[in-house]
Amino acid sequence: MLGLFLYALFKKLNELIKYLFSSEIAVMENILVAGANGTTGKKIVNLLHTSQYFNPVAMVRKEDQKKQFEDKNIKTILADLEEDVSFTTENIDKIVFAAGSGGKKVKEIDQEGAKKLIDAGKKSGIRKFVMLSSMGADNPESSEELKDYLVAKQNADIYLRESNVPYTIVRPGSLTNNKGLGKIELSEKLNKSGEISRDDVAQTLVHSLHDTAVINETFEIIKGDTLIGQAIPS
Ligand code: NAP
Repeated sequence: MLGLFLYALFKKLNELIKYLFSSEIAVMENILVAGANGTTGKKIVNLLHTSQYFNPVAMVRKEDQKKQFEDKNIKTILADLEEDVSFTTENIDKIVFAAGSGGKKVKEIDQEGAKKLIDAGKKSGIRKFVMLSSMGADNPESSEELKDYLVAKQNADIYLRESNVPYTIVRPGSLTNNKGLGKIELSEKLNKSGEISRDDVAQTLVHSLHDTAVINETFEIIKGDTLIGQAIPS
């Protein structure tokens, strides 16, 4: 009798342990999105908000940019990449860097801002940093017009690679506001130019956040024929 009872108890405990470790109740990861108020940043935050794995924390630099997120119960944090950002990574598991100077303060924001956030993330032990870089960042000389911007992006990418923080560096071609196709062409080096919708860039960045996806890799993307989930298995 006691044997049967112990057996039933053991079975129940086993089921409970399985349930506790099942993905259904897996703890969601907090993802800090730098540049959350940007065109691509907003798309990233919205994707994360509907994800079963991730909780977005929208980093914005103006008080009045918070409401649009807080109205949807999305956490926000006020920080300027030109100033101290060391406080922004507390309780953060992973970071997506989608901020950008738009060409005006490339060194201050695209380079030094990114480096400061990598430092902050490293200090608080984040598990991945996903960088929205740019095609051409491996060879800034390729464009006279964009050279300063590409040098800044290259320096930030190198800093990230050497930081020992697990990373993914995504280098898209020209960004468009076309509707996303959910399909891309991805390669370490595409050897051709091209465009890609911000929708598809946002999806690629979010896919890259998974622990098992593209760890310590750098790749270029443009619009293409491969489903994003296939191009980046997670
Ligand atoms: P975007 O709309 O210009 O958004 C950039 C975001 O960065 C904005 O929300 C901006 O904040 C934020 N930001 C700027 N300075 C900041 C600071 N000091 N502190 C905190 N946040 C700051 O950019 P996008 O068009 O979505 O593009 C995203 C990124 O993709 C670009 O920055 C670029 O690096 C990269 N990229 C672009 C292209 C292209 O064809 N455009 C191609 C390849 C890669 P506010 O909203 O307050 O201004």
